[in-house]
Amino acid sequence: MNTLNENNRAAWLEGPPARCSLPPKHDGLDWRFVLLGPPGVGKGTQAKLLSRRVGACHLSTGDVFRAGRSRSDLTPAMAATQDFMRKGHLVPDTIVWEMLRERIGCLRCPGGFVLDGFPRTVAQAESLELLLEGEQIRLDAVLDYELPVSEIVLRLSGRRTCEKCKAVFHVSSQAPRNEGVCDHCGGRLHQREDDRPESIAVRLEDYERSNGSLIQFYRRSGLLTPVSATGSPEEIFQRARAAIWARWNARTCPASARAY
Ligand code: AMP
Repeated sequence: MNTLNENNRAAWLEGPPARCSLPPKHDGLDWRFVLLGPPGVGKGTQAKLLSRRVGACHLSTGDVFRAGRSRSDLTPAMAATQDFMRKGHLVPDTIVWEMLRERIGCLRCPGGFVLDGFPRTVAQAESLELLLEGEQIRLDAVLDYELPVSEIVLRLSGRRTCEKCKAVFHVSSQAPRNEGVCDHCGGRLHQREDDRPESIAVRLEDYERSNGSLIQFYRRSGLLTPVSATGSPEEIFQRARAAIWARWNARTCPASARAY
């Protein structure tokens, strides 16, 4: 499997007119995935692994909204997202859609994409489907990461994120060498506001409410690819890889075009 670099995602994180300073690095293959799964299932980590190894850009809607915290030039709609996030609520579809449409260039990126955190509702999934059809952009698979609720709560409540480089740790399963300090850049580790117990409960309820119909939507479209999210990130990644590979073999896609 190839190891490829991530670009800096400026076009995604900042929106137009920002451009990524490095072109996407890929070897001619352009994978496009949607990742589904409850908060805390490890979608972000899997998105990064997929992104590094297949060259597709990691497009996380949560990252865009979080990046908004440090900006002073936000539209009123984007500024309002901060409050929804803090309380653990979903941002309204209209705002999410406006944000995504502004970044349509990222969906056209020749390196492909890994959509993480979008769509979260059937309305978002329908809009995305129409948009991709209109742009003649193919979606390869919708990876649905599955994990029992008890384990999700443990993972979320122990998660700590570096304020500077955004590296993710866990107080017990992936503890930093020095408590509260990032191993990579020495930045301060903090708990995301929406990883606090009161927000976790709201997020899981929101997820349960909207997820069933979203799963059905993608099952009907034939794109749904379930992946068990137990075990280490590498084990989960290898499981996803095998599932993607099996999908393509089943479609008798030319092996030369899909042998990553
Ligand atoms: P995430 O990092 O994907 O867990 O997203 C963090 C927060 O951003 C969520 O709890 C929501 O408040 C907001 N958010 C991200 N993506 C979406 C989306 N597609 N629809 C609505 N809200 C979203």
